[in-house]
Amino acid sequence: MRAGPRQAAGTMFRLYPAYADGFAEPERVELSPPAGSLRPGPADGAMATVNPLRKDRPYDPPGYMPPYRGPVHHPALPDAGGHFDTIPVESEQFLAAHTYGSVRRTLDIWEAELGHRIVWWHADFLPLLELIPMVQWANAHSGPGFLEMGRQPTASGGIAPFCLDYDVLAHETGHAILFSQIGTPEAGTVTREFLAFHESFADLIAIIGILHFRAVAAHVLRETEGDLYRPSDASRIGIISRTEQIRMATSAATMADVADVELAPDGSWIDPSGQHRNQHAIAEPLTGAVFDILVEFYQDALVRQGLIAPAADARGWTRQEVARDGALLDRAFADAFARFEPLFRAALDRARDLVAACIAHVMLTLKPETLTFARVTARFLEAAAAQGEAPLMPALLGQFLRRGIDPRPHLEIAVRPGRVRRLSRARGRLIVPEAPNRVRGCACGDWRSFLAARRLMIHPHREQAVVPG
Ligand SMILES: [Zn+2]
Repeated sequence: MRAGPRQAAGTMFRLYPAYADGFAEPERVELSPPAGSLRPGPADGAMATVNPLRKDRPYDPPGYMPPYRGPVHHPALPDAGGHFDTIPVESEQFLAAHTYGSVRRTLDIWEAELGHRIVWWHADFLPLLELIPMVQWANAHSGPGFLEMGRQPTASGGIAPFCLDYDVLAHETGHAILFSQIGTPEAGTVTREFLAFHESFADLIAIIGILHFRAVAAHVLRETEGDLYRPSDASRIGIISRTEQIRMATSAATMADVADVELAPDGSWIDPSGQHRNQHAIAEPLTGAVFDILVEFYQDALVRQGLIAPAADARGWTRQEVARDGALLDRAFADAFARFEPLFRAALDRARDLVAACIAHVMLTLKPETLTFARVTARFLEAAAAQGEAPLMPALLGQFLRRGIDPRPHLEIAVRPGRVRRLSRARGRLIVPEAPNRVRGCACGDWRSFLAARRLMIHPHREQAVVPG
């Protein structure tokens, strides 16, 4: 019953972009493992899905760790062609296949961007990542040798498993990728910006993954008629996409808003405003700026291709100008989008891939012990310049400055309006100002440092939220 006559080289799965957010149809996707290479579970050389009949509590390392030894459901099995895309969605095996497929898809995207296979930081003592689709717990987490998903009661009295939401799986996979690529500062030296960076980039990894779904990209563009930019409607994409990470990315938060949120020596958070904010709030200005840059790349492509007339390019407009000419803008976008929808989609894909390449460069060059937002954003901008986006540098820098993040002390390129001096390139490759990250691609993660950092990474928002039924 596979769609189309094409014979897939990889393995086919069906994934929900955001089941709880109303994307009711799973999308058929091709993953990198050659058809026929996956074992029942599903399992491959990097991870194995284990689906307990009932797991009452989450792993709590180092006391409670994989492998899971209790009774389990029958594993998801491939069909005769080696694919997993005909498993009925209401079965236990679908939950297992969806969990594996979402994590593998996230790895596929980032292994392609990083240019090498991701080796788990714990691979020397726990070679496989164990994937648990369902724990009796209203949260989700990843840790040494595992990634496990809980479930939430819905407003209508049902149960929403997190393992059906790609964005939750991708966020947790994001943490595991970041630990494996960047490493961990020594125990006792973890900073608020390291923790906030992890949340921000785990969210961005999820957003990039979500935008790889054809249904999401098409939905976002149709609902906005291609106009992702209008400053007065900065949260428009967040309103129409109920995906959690995209909603948070569209917040207007600045570093000044979170300056008083402190990490105490015992790992607790101090918020004098009484709002109980933590690293998730500190992450928002960084995530928001990167998201605005994605929209900037998109808008720039539309203008450069002549899809949108310069007169309808709202970048740099004041709120008053947008309010005055809003109807004109709407009409310009609606007309152009109706005629050139495939080109709008291509522009969004390209913007997504540019941002992903910048994120990958950050992962390849940052060191955990010197990680600050200023360094993260400096490496991000250098990668953008190296990909030919140097003319946009003042605008991109402006996005970070507007959020109260100043990369300039660490920038190895000089930013001048309209041109960039001393661009760090040689033979088509970016010269990185910092030495490549030493933990890149090695299974040399330090167990004690990891546990110290991971203990500080909480997701209490999931426990509080109730998914609409
Ligand atoms: Zn997280």
